[in-house]
Amino acid sequence: MRGGACSNSLRSISSSNRATRNGSPNLNSSAFDVRPREPVTVLNAAGGGALVLTCEHASCAVPAEYNNLGLHVDSLMEHIGWDVGAQEVTEALAAHFNATAVCSGVSRLVIDCNRDLPDHDLIVATSHGVSIPGNALLSVEERARRIRDFYDPYHASVDAIVAQRPEAMLLSVHSFTPVLNGRERPFDVGVLFDDYADEARALGAVLAEAGLRVRFNEPYSGLDGLIFSARKHGMRHGVRYLELELNNSRLRERSQIAMVAGTVARAWSQCFGV
Ligand SMILES: [Zn+2]
Repeated sequence: MRGGACSNSLRSISSSNRATRNGSPNLNSSAFDVRPREPVTVLNAAGGGALVLTCEHASCAVPAEYNNLGLHVDSLMEHIGWDVGAQEVTEALAAHFNATAVCSGVSRLVIDCNRDLPDHDLIVATSHGVSIPGNALLSVEERARRIRDFYDPYHASVDAIVAQRPEAMLLSVHSFTPVLNGRERPFDVGVLFDDYADEARALGAVLAEAGLRVRFNEPYSGLDGLIFSARKHGMRHGVRYLELELNNSRLRERSQIAMVAGTVARAWSQCFGV
């Protein structure tokens, strides 16, 4: 399973080893199809206007020409490669609300669509102690190519959709690993915000009432600029925006994903009337 084109490696895994390691969801349908796709996938493009969903870390796919960035495919499928379960939650919310959702089609290790272009971690050479050989000594030309081929199309899609929905709220869906660098993150959901504190507090309160352990601006803080994509598009079009970070230990089975997505959907409806 080591080496080879990503598409072949990931296709093998998705057909022969669905009980994946290290927290990847144990799903066995087309929902867990991690083959490289288009740089961006728009779900439910004709959906209603009250909510737009984005998922910047939806995929662990690496285009074949990058040869898995020199990584074992198991590494790509850990949290460093994507947000485990986030796409499935996004899909469930899109279906529930008849909302349009925009999902990135490539791994954050190819380029991170939740970072600004000048950010040092737009394309990382090391992620949580794992060296990314395919990102070492990246040329200016290769960096520009990834921006052109993957980053720009993603943000152009989000931008075009939000522009058509001036009454929308924007929700960026992510997941986090429950233990990072030996430190536990003992909560179920982080509500991340910067400008929209009232909305974040309201949503967090309802999620807590539903039994989830809620933190605000953890494990990452919107106040530190770490909700880049939601802020970029929300500010540009004057729509309210939040980001959710979901503990991926609760997103490992289809039933768990449905439960978490259902809880988020009910809370969102209660807070924002959609
Ligand atoms: Zn993420």
